Amino acid sequence: MDIVAVSNSNVLDYLNDPSPRTLGRSALEWLDQLQKPTIIRVAGRDRSRTRAMATLLHGNEPSGLFALHRWLLEQHTPDVNMLFLLGGVYPAKIPPMLSLRQLSEGRDLNRCFKEPFEGEEGAIAKAMLAELHKAKPECLLDVHNTSGTGPSFAVTITNDAAHQALTSLFTDRLIMTDLRLGALMEYSEQEVPTVTIECGGSQDDQAHQLAYEGLVRYASRPDVLSLEKAEWDVEVLRNPIRVELVPEATIEYLTEPSGRADLTLPPDIEHRNFGIVSPNEPLGWIGKKGLSVLNAIGHNRTENMGQVFQVREGQIFPAQAIKAFMITTNPVIAKSDCLFYAVKATGEPIF
Ligand SMILES: [Zn+2]
Repeated sequence: MDIVAVSNSNVLDYLNDPSPRTLGRSALEWLDQLQKPTIIRVAGRDRSRTRAMATLLHGNEPSGLFALHRWLLEQHTPDVNMLFLLGGVYPAKIPPMLSLRQLSEGRDLNRCFKEPFEGEEGAIAKAMLAELHKAKPECLLDVHNTSGTGPSFAVTITNDAAHQALTSLFTDRLIMTDLRLGALMEYSEQEVPTVTIECGGSQDDQAHQLAYEGLVRYASRPDVLSLEKAEWDVEVLRNPIRVELVPEATIEYLTEPSGRADLTLPPDIEHRNFGIVSPNEPLGWIGKKGLSVLNAIGHNRTENMGQVFQVREGQIFPAQAIKAFMITTNPVIAKSDCLFYAVKATGEPIF
């Protein structure tokens, strides 16, 4: 059976139980066919329940799209109804496909899930929320990729057994944050347990495989919200601080400082992702301006650099044992976004 419903909204397209021959030979061919942000519904064995998965909210984060395309081609019958929401179809389609996070004149869709839902992205966010409200899923995942090549993790604003169980379908680390940015999970959490999954780097086959295997578990298990059934233990990291460069600061990634940058980090610092860095392990080198080139910001906008770093003989050390993650080695991201996030080695907030 092949029911391709015509859009009943100006904002979204709808596909119901799509047959393999409508899906193109590859995820890219399928994406080429998609015209709008798209809702895909697949009927399950138990038609009284629904689970939801959003992905491609960022057009350059393809693991969820690849996983969904493969899963649809394989024609699985899910345990319950599945509702998939492909958000950033417009930026993803711009050649070269899957290279743009958002339209150059547009906004970050995953910052638009809040009132007043302005502009094109706001309308897409609002339409997606309306679909979720209608379908009343028992849970929601939002599948992303990280910008670097780091390992997978999950993000939640609520840390309880259900959120840990959802996390364990994909990964073994859960970051609990009180930061509010207008992300899908913040809005949807009011109605349904929601977890954001960061599969790892957008270019990593491992990340695509993780998304696929997680989706298979998510769609096939009778119960995905009980921790007793979890695949593995989940480590919880609470309220990480954000470590940023101040706007005028310069950064370089070199094995030793050239003397021209305010901060020098080793090019392999990504290997430190989620590992513990003790107070006697240097993270990099700091220039003449010292720690004034850095900001360390907690979820309540407090700052306390002394609890984070110390400088000894031009080298920068953690002031206490920390666990850092989402470490970037891309100077553009380091300047425009942040250097990394960090918690105490125990997973508790630094401040
Ligand atoms: Zn993303």
